[in-house]
Parts: sequence; C-alpha cells; structure tokens
Amino acid sequence: MSSDSDSSSESCGSSERMDWEHSESSDSEAIRIDGVIVPYQDEPLADCIEEESSNASEETDNDGLSPSTLEARFEGNACVDSWCQCEQCNNELLVGALEFRCCREVTNSSAKMLFDGSIERIKCITEHEDYDAITNRAVLLQVAPLLRNQDGGIYRRRNGVSENEFIRAVAYRWITRWLCGYIGRDNRRPLPACVYHSKRKKYNTRQHKGYANFQEH
Ligand SMILES: [Zn+2]
Ligand SMILES: [Zn+2]
Repeated sequence: MSSDSDSSSESCGSSERMDWEHSESSDSEAIRIDGVIVPYQDEPLADCIEEESSNASEETDNDGLSPSTLEARFEGNACVDSWCQCEQCNNELLVGALEFRCCREVTNSSAKMLFDGSIERIKCITEHEDYDAITNRAVLLQVAPLLRNQDGGIYRRRNGVSENEFIRAVAYRWITRWLCGYIGRDNRRPLPACVYHSKRKKYNTRQHKGYANFQEH
C-alpha cells in the first residue's frame, strides 16, 4: 500500500455503513386504544440480551475482548448499553466489529484515567481535559507532518481527500500516541467507540473507512 493518509483505492467492503438515520424507532411504544386490550401491551419491551461470557477457549485481544464478543455487538445482538460504561459510546457511525469497545474496556484509555486520577471526575476518555486540545483541528494540522503512517510515510493530504478525512486519520494516530505512547507502525490498536463516534461527528465526511479496513488509523 502506498497510502499516506487514510484514503486508498481499497474498497471499503461490505462492512461499511452509510446509515445516517437515527436508529431509534417509535413503533415500540405501547399502543392503547380506548377500551380495547391490545395484545402484548403489558409485556415489557425486549431487554437487550446480556452478553454471554466469552468462550474461555477463545483468544482475546489486548483489551480482553474476544472476536465473538465484538461480533455480537457489531451484529446488534448485544446493544450498546450492555457493554458501554462511559455513556458516550454510540454505534451510529461505527464501521467494523473491532470498533465496538468502550473506553472503559480499552486498556490504555482506562489506565490513563486511572493513573492521572481523572476517573474521579469523568466517565469517558472523550471528557478528559486534554482530549479537546489534542483533537483540535489546528493542532492536528500542525502535528500531521511529525507523525508516520503505517507505511512509514508522513501524513500528507492527497488530491481528492477532504480535509476532514485527512484530519480524522491524523486524529486517530495522535490519540493513539496520547493513550499508548509510541507503539510503532505495526502495533496498531483499535480506539474506543466513543472516540470514533466523536471524531466522525466532528470531522464529518459522510464516509468512514474504519479501523477494520486499516485506513483510518
Ligand atoms: Zn463507552
Ligand atoms: Zn468513552
């Protein structure tokens, strides 16, 4: 690959989601018609299925999460509320199973909040006092030439790549550096869902290639 930003000719594959609609649906609301008992009206709404404890024989990643756990989240079998503890994760803009992890599960972000004591004040790494500064547009444009992408090249915005798309690629790299220190080109880590969501919302291009496609990182 010769990409020097998060853009490449590589197809985004079927995992790409272009769904910008809100997923909330109003048709789960109870319907009451005068004097008529509507079947099932007293039944509780379906609870989201609790995650099954992951298969002990299955390999887990750096954050202790197994592929089947992440896949269940991606497929919607385990809803966000069942795994997000930071209250900021949102699956609306996620594009791959690897992104379905909460900052409280991600070893590096939870460790950072623990070690600097911010865990006493905040629930989510995106609420950290340094987060806005680190992901500020002007900062990211300044820091881009200092970072190396996974091919060892500098981050350079190529023709056809919007500034926001470029900024996101730099942001993911820079946030990873903030959370993990220098980890080398080949040792990439998926970021938490809350981080992907906040950056895709802020630097919106209506197109996200996602971690799974090795581009936006
Ligand atoms: Zn979360
Ligand atoms: Zn979070």
